[in-house]
This record gives sequence, structure tokens and C-alpha cells, in this order.
Amino acid sequence: MPLYQYVCRKCEKQFEIEETIGLHAQHRQHQCPRCGSSEVQQVISNVTVQTKRKA
Ligand SMILES: [Zn+2]
Repeated sequence: MPLYQYVCRKCEKQFEIEETIGLHAQHRQHQCPRCGSSEVQQVISNVTVQTKRKA
């Protein structure tokens, strides 16, 4: 199963979720394991991701 990386927008906790491509394609809502927020964002590995955070 592929491993997808997510980051919580609230506490910036990064975590990984293992799910099938079929399940992933359903864009299920994930929750942050630390603060329980559902405001999580997928981290795309090996791709340059633009962030709004100031350096
Ligand atoms: Zn969190």
C-alpha cells in the first residue's frame, strides 16, 4: 500500500497514512493524530510544494 504524507495545518504535525490508491482517490477526511484537527493537508513527496509560510 502506498504511504501518504500529511501535515496538520493547526499544529504542523506531520504524519503518514497508509491507504490503497482506491481509498485515497475518495479523498477521505483525515484527522491529525496530535490535535484531532481535520485541517490536514497532503504533503507531496519529491515535488516542490509552494508554501505560504515566510522563510
Ligand atoms: Zn494537529
